[in-house]
Amino acid sequence: VSPDLLETMNGRAGHFLLESGHHGDLWLDLDRLLVSAADLQRWAGGLADLLREHDVSAVCGPLVGGAVVAEFVAARLEVDCYYAQRLASATDVSYRIPARRHDELAGRRVAVVDDVVNAGSAVAKTRDALAEIGARPVVVGALLALGSHAEEQTKQWGAEFTALATVPSNLWDPDDCPLCRDGVALERPGEESG
Ligand SMILES: [Zn+2]
Repeated sequence: VSPDLLETMNGRAGHFLLESGHHGDLWLDLDRLLVSAADLQRWAGGLADLLREHDVSAVCGPLVGGAVVAEFVAARLEVDCYYAQRLASATDVSYRIPARRHDELAGRRVAVVDDVVNAGSAVAKTRDALAEIGARPVVVGALLALGSHAEEQTKQWGAEFTALATVPSNLWDPDDCPLCRDGVALERPGEESG
C-alpha cells in the first residue's frame, strides 16, 4: 500500500516547512491523493476495516483531504460523516465543527480520519474541536502515517491510533533541525500545494 500512496503523491526528500511549524524531510503532494476516486475508495475501505472494531457511530475529517477520505470511510462503515473547518489566522491554525452539527454529535463515539498525518496537528485540532462540543473522539485513523509522532501524541491524549500504512520520516522543531544546521535551504511547499 505505501509505495502506491507515496508514488501517487509524488513523494520527495528534502528540507521542508510543515503546516505545524516543524521542519521535515519528506514532502507529499496531498491533493494528488484525491484525483483517483477509485484508488481513494479502495484505500479508505482498507482504513475503514481497521476502524470497524472501535464501534464508532460517526467519522469526522479535517477539510479538505481528511474530509474526503472520511466520506469514503463512513460509507463503508455505514455511519454518519462530518467535517472540521480549517480556520487560519496570521499566527495560528485551528479547526472547528460547524455549529449546526454540535447537538447531533454530542456524546457519540467518533473516529477522526485524515489522509496523511505527520506532526498530526490537523487531527489533534479536530479531536480537540470534537471534545469541546461533547463528542468522544475515541480513535484517529489515517491512510498514511509519516513516522510515529501522531501516534504517540494521540495515545498520550487517550485515544487509539491506526494507519493503513506507515513510512519513516523525520520531523524537528526548527531550533533542533539538523538540516538547518547544515545550511540546507528550507522549502515552503505548503505555499504551492496547500
Ligand atoms: Zn530545518
